[in-house]
Amino acid sequence: MVMSRSFSKCFCESLFILCLASGLTRPVYAGEAELNQNNIDNHHDINKLLSCLNLNAPGLEKVKSSVDDPQLAAKELLAYYRARDFVKHPVDRQAKPEMLGKCASMNDISEAENAMKHIFVGQPAYPPHFCGEDINWNSRPVPDMEWVWQLNRMGFWQSMSLAYWHTNDEKYAKEWCFQFVDWTKKNPLDKEHDYAWRSIEAGIRGHSWTILFQRFLDSPSFTPEVLVAFLNCCHEHASYLMTKYSKGSNWGLMEADGLAFIAITFPEFQDSKKWRDEAIMRLNTEINNQVYSDGHQRELAIGYHSGCIGWFTRSFDLAKMNGQANAFPESYNKKIEKMCEVLMKLGFPDGTTPQFGDSWTGTPGHIWESLRNWAQLYHRDDFLYVATEGKEGKKPDATAFALEKSGFYSMRSGWDKNSICLVLKCGPDGGGHCQPDNGTFELYAGGRHLMPDAGSYIYSGDPKNREWFRQTKVHQTLTLDGKNSTFSPKLLLWKPGTDLDILVVENKSYQNLTHRRALLFVDKKFFVIIDEAMGDATGPVDIHFQLGPGSVVSDYKNFSACTNFHDGWNVLVQSMKQKGMNMKDEEGQVSFLYTKKEPRPAFSYGLQKNTKEQETRFITIVVPYNESQPRIKVRLTGKPKIGSSHMELKIVTNGISKKISYDL
Ligand code: CA
Repeated sequence: MVMSRSFSKCFCESLFILCLASGLTRPVYAGEAELNQNNIDNHHDINKLLSCLNLNAPGLEKVKSSVDDPQLAAKELLAYYRARDFVKHPVDRQAKPEMLGKCASMNDISEAENAMKHIFVGQPAYPPHFCGEDINWNSRPVPDMEWVWQLNRMGFWQSMSLAYWHTNDEKYAKEWCFQFVDWTKKNPLDKEHDYAWRSIEAGIRGHSWTILFQRFLDSPSFTPEVLVAFLNCCHEHASYLMTKYSKGSNWGLMEADGLAFIAITFPEFQDSKKWRDEAIMRLNTEINNQVYSDGHQRELAIGYHSGCIGWFTRSFDLAKMNGQANAFPESYNKKIEKMCEVLMKLGFPDGTTPQFGDSWTGTPGHIWESLRNWAQLYHRDDFLYVATEGKEGKKPDATAFALEKSGFYSMRSGWDKNSICLVLKCGPDGGGHCQPDNGTFELYAGGRHLMPDAGSYIYSGDPKNREWFRQTKVHQTLTLDGKNSTFSPKLLLWKPGTDLDILVVENKSYQNLTHRRALLFVDKKFFVIIDEAMGDATGPVDIHFQLGPGSVVSDYKNFSACTNFHDGWNVLVQSMKQKGMNMKDEEGQVSFLYTKKEPRPAFSYGLQKNTKEQETRFITIVVPYNESQPRIKVRLTGKPKIGSSHMELKIVTNGISKKISYDL
């Protein structure tokens, strides 16, 4: 619309200049002053771009010889890019005809149709929003800043590009070209437009725009003017990203990823090599800085961990496609493989993941597609086994895994959907996406998330709820006076076995109180948890538990609570009776989707620690079961002191007695 109008203006102007130059006279029309201005602007843009390109690069001869005629140079440059085939990209322009009717989902089409009408998706948990006939890229329909930040990632442009290839309907390309130029005009890189220029959005755009380039370049709507705006803005992005390096977090990877994609896709820029080297240096540095030797990314939120696998892999793959894999050491790829293992080790049997920190458990099976790809890439039969629910590949050689540096531990009875699986977290401070939850765990059994983590609900615009979901006391761990704990983890014992897995961890949760938690997976059927509060602190000491949404049967006299599903699996939690212990209901909420939450049962067991010396210990069973509830009793034998390195337990299950001991 505006695009074609302004471009035809440019051609009129060229003609006008030509007339003047040849000394011909013609009448002056109203509006020509404006036309002239546009012409100058456009020339300025073209000249700016030309000054950033290496015009001596092979193939750019015609562009170089046209520099005195900027319009022609821009046309020649477009012709060069359309003919260029030495740069490889995951989106292959040659594949467009094969994609007819095959590459867009219903959702892509509907998002694209909305986008045609300027009804855009920002943060996708909120409804799409009409951003004006004259688009306001700073629209804020909700208080959550994520909306406007994510609006400026323009994810809907990907849908428009898919819809374009899917239907070959030029309207998508025409509108995208208009919106693209509109965005670049309205969002200069300055303080006033900082909502559009967080470094991660710039990084995300740097990557995604190269995809859009591949999909729209051959469209007749992709005029020289669009190309000039596009490349100038890519140059601006790369230059900006050179100055932004968020070390130690996923941000740093998105910044590097955007930089790498611009640099490798457009080697014609004079600075491309510098950008590429910087991006690859950052990725090589960050894979060592951010990934523990056990494979987990340091922010300790599995969603971000998975994202980081993607960011580390994408630039590496692009470099490989373009014959530049040697810029990465062999260890780089090995480390990515180790990161992929984490999903197998910590994933639940239904293909979902724990939602510790700012993470989301996801839809069932969501990790399987990735595992299937990685199985092929890394020749991993165990990944394939998990990805195909045991139909192909080879069963992983263990059922219990310790990620000792990041502090994740998983125990499972098997790999099929009905298996029992518990994942416990007791790790270092992972920063803003990590919560003060050391000692907490999630339990899955029989196809149900019986004790899920509360999740995180929201990032911005609702600090009260953001804070609520972060609290230590809404996690399945121990608190002093209900306060948030600190991170100071220690692994004391990891001893997996055929019929007993033992884990003992400790966290110096408060200045003068350490929480030691022993977790025993008995007969691969149920869990015994021994919690000890060690230290000089006094005050109320509580251990907290939360169930999945649904009703609960509580027995305060016997200190037990269980879920109340009428069919399938349930879970029983019971703390062994002791003097002075109380059982209380607590506020319970769980969020499985951004901005969505629901109530769920939650309760705690409490002891008042009145003196420094007072021994404070809880012995609790967590028993997932199908059909009838087993009768289980646990007691410690002897009278071990708090913090004792030798423990002996007597466990009676349905009348059958068993002794277990461990030494630290
Ligand atoms: Ca949590």
